[in-house]
Amino acid sequence: MKIFDVHMHSGDKNEWTAEAFGFLMSLGHRYEQKLYDAAGNQNDDELYHILVREGVEHAVLLPEYAPKIAGIHPVERVIEIAAKYPRFIPFGFINPLLHHPTREFERQFNLGIRGMKIHPVHCEHYVNDRNLYPVYDRCLQLKMPVMMHAGTSIFTGSKMRYADPYSYDDVAADFPDLTIILAHGGRGFWYQEAEFMVKRHKNVYIDVCGLPPKNLLKLFPGLPRLPEKFLFGTDFPGVPGIKANAEAICTLDLSQEAKELICYGNAKRIMLGDA
Ligand SMILES: [Zn+2]
Repeated sequence: MKIFDVHMHSGDKNEWTAEAFGFLMSLGHRYEQKLYDAAGNQNDDELYHILVREGVEHAVLLPEYAPKIAGIHPVERVIEIAAKYPRFIPFGFINPLLHHPTREFERQFNLGIRGMKIHPVHCEHYVNDRNLYPVYDRCLQLKMPVMMHAGTSIFTGSKMRYADPYSYDDVAADFPDLTIILAHGGRGFWYQEAEFMVKRHKNVYIDVCGLPPKNLLKLFPGLPRLPEKFLFGTDFPGVPGIKANAEAICTLDLSQEAKELICYGNAKRIMLGDA
């Protein structure tokens, strides 16, 4: 089974807040020793070798600009890693309270980003914030997918109101041709609304990262009829094992074709085109 992980985080230990790093390592402790050197810096070669060892063909690598709640991992680092290891697809990240959205978008675009991450819950804004609309326009024009953290975060200071499902539906309705990825599929309290959105909006997808794979059919009862709308992601390094999670999806009561679409085919189509 080929694996495409659409949700991997990158970052030195001290770029995360202590709480965020502690949480990531509580799940991904087996990666910790080799992934960071004695000073806590991320070993990029090891990051790549993890992909190779776990059978991951391609992975989206995410920067972070949420200083209060999770930390700052600059887009430049994600670009640098992807330039060295093309299996990684570098995404950008706009925080409208920290950045001038359009200027920062063009800066990140010129660096080479191939998608955009928005994190309303860590950055205290709504995804339908009108300051982000010009960014969505550019992403649409450039055929860049926009990943939105969709659901709760347990980090101190996170506010649930910014994960209001209707704010995501607004963007999907206002930008029907924009590819939108609901990361975590409404985790915590709106799985049903997320499933409804992928049914209703032709370009909205759910990234299952951070959800126990064995529970997916309970969380999204419509998944067997919509396998083309779900993407495999792990929230690495906050995951016990990338391959183990993909294997857990393979044990679900789904067709072989559905498993292949979720673990690889859908992401390949969205991120790399059909070629
Ligand atoms: Zn994440």
